[in-house]
Amino acid sequence: MESLASDLPTAGHRVSVLVELPRHSQVDSALSYASDLPLAAGQLVRVPLGRRTVCGIAWAEAEPQAPDIELRPVAEVLDALPPLGPPWRALVSFAAAYYQRSTGELALSVLPGELRDLDATQLQRRLKRLHKRLAAEPIGQVDVPAYELLPLSAEQQAVLQALAGAEPGTHLLHGVTGSGKTEVYLRCVADVLAQGRQALVLVPEINLTPQLEARFRARFPARRIVSLHSGLTPAERLQSWLAAHLGLADVVLGTRMAIFASLPRLGLIVVDEEHDPSYKQQEGARYSARDLAVWRGRNEALTVLLGSATPSLETWHNASPTLPGGARYQLLAMPSRIGAGSLPTVRLVDLARIAAQFGQGAVHKQPLVPALVAALKERIERGEQSLILLNRRGYAPVLHCTGCGWKSACPHCSAWRVFHKLDRTLRCHHCGFSERVPRACPDCGDPDIQPVGRGTERLEEQLGDLLPGARIGRIDADSTRAKGSLESQLASVHAGEVDVLVGTQMVAKGHDFRRMTLVAAVNADSALFGSDFRAPERLFSLLMQAGGRAGRDAAQAGRSELWIQTWHVGHPLYAALVSHDYAAFAKSQLIERQQAGLPPFAHLALLRCEARSQQAATAFLDRTAELGAQIQADHPALQDLLIYPPVPPAIQRVANVERAQMLIESPSRVVLQRFLARWVPQLNQCQVSEQRILRWAVDVDPLAI
Ligand code: ADP
Ligand code: ZN
Ligand code: ZN
Repeated sequence: MESLASDLPTAGHRVSVLVELPRHSQVDSALSYASDLPLAAGQLVRVPLGRRTVCGIAWAEAEPQAPDIELRPVAEVLDALPPLGPPWRALVSFAAAYYQRSTGELALSVLPGELRDLDATQLQRRLKRLHKRLAAEPIGQVDVPAYELLPLSAEQQAVLQALAGAEPGTHLLHGVTGSGKTEVYLRCVADVLAQGRQALVLVPEINLTPQLEARFRARFPARRIVSLHSGLTPAERLQSWLAAHLGLADVVLGTRMAIFASLPRLGLIVVDEEHDPSYKQQEGARYSARDLAVWRGRNEALTVLLGSATPSLETWHNASPTLPGGARYQLLAMPSRIGAGSLPTVRLVDLARIAAQFGQGAVHKQPLVPALVAALKERIERGEQSLILLNRRGYAPVLHCTGCGWKSACPHCSAWRVFHKLDRTLRCHHCGFSERVPRACPDCGDPDIQPVGRGTERLEEQLGDLLPGARIGRIDADSTRAKGSLESQLASVHAGEVDVLVGTQMVAKGHDFRRMTLVAAVNADSALFGSDFRAPERLFSLLMQAGGRAGRDAAQAGRSELWIQTWHVGHPLYAALVSHDYAAFAKSQLIERQQAGLPPFAHLALLRCEARSQQAATAFLDRTAELGAQIQADHPALQDLLIYPPVPPAIQRVANVERAQMLIESPSRVVLQRFLARWVPQLNQCQVSEQRILRWAVDVDPLAI
């Protein structure tokens, strides 16, 4: 008898291929195809799916196929590209399971869109051109030698020594703004580059990548540095991705999406500003790039460096040896600023006391108290700059008729429309619905309609009156809509063309304003008592970061101030801020979180759904809760988990769509994960035809509930 192999038809292997199918579709995302070649796992292929040909990833080694099995053949193998390696496949498998998506959906969605559309010939052409472009790129001979660098501070030295002696693992670099964290990253990156390995550096915002990229290029002129973020053109993104995957790039700088870069020689992951909420993806697979960095590091036995002046409470808890469950990460502290730079003096302005003394008018008519206006004038006279933070854009958050009580509600959302004076519109910040401001009340015709409250536009106008002759600038999402306008506005601040800058939180992050010696927050209180349990953490971090903008210049040391106008001077958050005591703040917050059963002491998942009526949304969630209760009854190990009743979110209706959500909570991450793995795949069955919902989504470790 002949050997079996020679009996096989030409398509002699069965290969399991991942394609982009969502988890709750009827089919699994790994489909079987026939291949005449024994494909390696991780190989990119094109396969027929229905009437289309789509990109897929061979997900296991191809096996010899029994001759009687009828499978559709793989259309093309993109073998110009080396297969995606085991660490990359492990990462996407884990992320898909953890965030409750199908592996195929997640794996393909994190590849560059251009790559998914190329056939084998196009890919080969692209790779050639790539190679050519990279070869043409001027690259220096050597990196900046150590003796040319500034001597390290004692704190930097201690941190680097600790890192050099440590096993691979996750480290929290807790350093105040200006303590020289970036220098620590650069030294660590230099070490892994010297070992011939790659470094991945994550930053929260696209806006921060050019600054950092410039610093890395200056330090490592002999290395290839690429960036990965959503601001790149599809072609640029593909080029960066390929450079990383082919091992041609030594350093990848990027936003959260870069965590999924394929890096065959990866040696280090840095997550700068690890507390930043933009590391959490808010649609599709709602992953946390910070959390995945920690997982990836553990899986590949790498050093992971999480840096922050105000770490997230989860990370702080993981790095606190005295807390139960803590000590997972090593804590490295840099409590002082480099050189003569000192932290700003924090001044709390007690609005309640001023109102009691001078009447309510003294605090409500004017946006700033007289002492703060005087402090601004002093700065202007000295040629220094100030920043006024107000986290609300537009002129006023609502218009109001004094005659009949009408308010500028959005007809499509359960929200007010914001008054924008510059273009005389009433604009909904949730659905975008915009109309010209009416001349008179639409309900009663009274011409006396008044703005209520204050946004950045109005503050800018009022500052013009309070500070005659001063040059007032404003940076917010409205002023920076045009491409390049943020850069040009920042440049004019840096050039000293602005005396007082009004801005939302987008200016508080990262930007280093040398001439700025005063930062003031005028409506910080709003975050203290909201329904968002992370709001105090965000506020503390924002104010510390904003304060960090000021006084980095040694010449102005000792003069920089952070002013906060508040009705709650006694709040522990402000007390901790005055003494720059992050640890005290974190301690008080962790006690509150523990008492309330919130993260990091509980693990959460949120099921959100949207429907034409609130009733349909709630009915769907009720049915999913019944299904959940059934699963718990069948599996005693899943008892330690609570399914809360459905509730509408803070803004219940957006663009005429009703929203509802349901919280799942467990003290055990494992129990939560096991429950979700059984529950989520069945959720589509909870749809009933007479009360269909539009869509649903599960958010694991949600930022807001
Ligand atoms: P962080 O990232 O902690 O806010 P940076 O790394 O940006 O701080 O450092 C703050 C400033 O101090 C930068 O201008 C940097 O060039 C400078 N710097 C950092 N390390 C040193 C050092 N060892 N000696 C002198 N200047 C330093
Ligand atoms: Zn009216
Ligand atoms: Zn709206």
